Amino acid sequence: MSIAQLLSPLTGLLAQRCASCHEPGPALCRSCRFALASTRAVDAGGAVDAAMPFDGAARSAILGLKYGNRRPVAAHLARLIVRRLHLSSADARFDIVTWAPTSAARARERGFDQAELLAREVAKLLGVPCRRLLHRAHGSPQTGRARAERLRADGPSFRARPAPRRGVRVLVVDDVITTGATLLAARRALQAVGVADVRLVAAAATPRPASVVPISAARRSAPTARATGRVPALLGGSPARLPGGAPVGSIPA
Ligand SMILES: [Zn+2]
Repeated sequence: MSIAQLLSPLTGLLAQRCASCHEPGPALCRSCRFALASTRAVDAGGAVDAAMPFDGAARSAILGLKYGNRRPVAAHLARLIVRRLHLSSADARFDIVTWAPTSAARARERGFDQAELLAREVAKLLGVPCRRLLHRAHGSPQTGRARAERLRADGPSFRARPAPRRGVRVLVVDDVITTGATLLAARRALQAVGVADVRLVAAAATPRPASVVPISAARRSAPTARATGRVPALLGGSPARLPGGAPVGSIPA
């Protein structure tokens, strides 16, 4: 029996509370939806986009999805990912959405792969198919510290299915970026099978110094996305201010 199954009576109770602030109510309460929609974009480096810094309400919501089996949160995070894609580039057109799969052991333990859940919700919003293109490559068996150090430095290895056709544009989705190594490894695997156009995005990234920019600045730098009106409607209303009038960019603890 998996841990998720063992915990299912508990997660049933938790499912009636907000994944972020734990107040009774929907998967993400209105205040937390405001907080997430008002958060800042992150320059995760290495041509990787992240919708939010991995702190505050975003951190709680993602941990709730990942470790608390709060799957409805994925749809909310996907909207923020799609908004980030439109804000960071006028061209957010893709042919396939895929994900950087977590290890089989972790997916078994949780009962799902959170990156896949996010990718499927993002694909729905973009109106394109979601396909599994990547698999974890096991490589030579390594154990202990050497393996842990390699994973920290290089991230996991992936192998990719052959590209379905030339010129296909692929979006790879992940939940949280720490070093960026996972998504960069995913891109390398896709490029190795001939996919030249690979874009990488995550729901959140561990903030680096000076990497967080106000979402309003990100919007100013992408006027075409705004002009085309393709920025999707946000959850819970205007992102301009938090409840209580706190300015954009401040995240409740
Ligand atoms: Zn809440």
